[in-house]
Amino acid sequence: MIQLYIPLNFLGVIYREIKQSLTDLEKMFTLMEREREIADVPGAQPLQLAADGADATVRFEDVTFAYDPARTILHGISFEIPAGKTVAVVGPSGSGKSTLARLLFRFYDVQQGRITVAGQDIKQVTQSSVRSSLGIVPQDTVLFNDTVEYNIAYGRPGATRTEVEAAAKAAHIHAFIAAAPKAYDTMVGERGLKLSGGEKQRVAIARTLLKNPPVMIFDEATSALDSANERAIQAELQSVAQNKTTLVIAHRLSTVVDAHEILVMDAGRIIERGNHAQLLAANGRYASMWALQQSAE
Ligand code: ATP
Repeated sequence: MIQLYIPLNFLGVIYREIKQSLTDLEKMFTLMEREREIADVPGAQPLQLAADGADATVRFEDVTFAYDPARTILHGISFEIPAGKTVAVVGPSGSGKSTLARLLFRFYDVQQGRITVAGQDIKQVTQSSVRSSLGIVPQDTVLFNDTVEYNIAYGRPGATRTEVEAAAKAAHIHAFIAAAPKAYDTMVGERGLKLSGGEKQRVAIARTLLKNPPVMIFDEATSALDSANERAIQAELQSVAQNKTTLVIAHRLSTVVDAHEILVMDAGRIIERGNHAQLLAANGRYASMWALQQSAE
């Protein structure tokens, strides 16, 4: 028994760590298969979405959530991301921003309220259909020790080289790859091609472009990229998000200026909401965060 317990317990630890960081989703899927913490309801059907994603509205309806019953992390959160629009979430570290993304991806089930995509409760449809309708560009992409092509094509297994190249071009990483010794056949990783934070993020963008899901989640990097790189990546993310239902977890307010709605979170509650101009006019928390960031820049 103990022999079984130790590896299982270890797996549980790894699972939680991976889940936590939202980084290597693919590895997590494999682990998810083993540990069915979140199960499909009996007879769950796939999420029904229009082919063009025109109905892919996301709604959080009075969502309350706790990782641990003793400590509620989200308190009655409600918001809507109309199909094709962007909602940005800002707020201090630990306020619950990434938790929103984890719940939308259904890493966990909510304790109260519900989350719907195109009007369907994500708890009632198959997990695989929810996940295939979502694309995530995480803070820190973990790449496989495999070729550049494999790493990009992971967004859509079976994609052709031409499609992989087109996605890499759109994510502005093609020239970098083409200059590597074996171009798209170059191995990535410890003993292969090493990529900077910005380059990894571009690979994640290319993957997501290939996947072309109707709903996107961007977890903006907290780690400092140089500002030219950062602006370029922001511009690329914005073009990827065009006409997609998008949730942006923003660490820099410059990213959120054009969002349809900005949610300011604190300690698991939405304390202010509105668009950039409205929030500046309200002269509250957002306005002071904005002033602070402007003066820092
Ligand atoms: P940051 O800007 O630093 O990424 P955040 O606003 O995204 O922060 P979350 O990651 O959503 O914050 O975390 C919200 C709260 O939930 C924090 O207090 C955190 O400690 C707690 N928390 C996060 N993951 C877990 C977990 N797996 N188990 C227990 N508590 C957790």
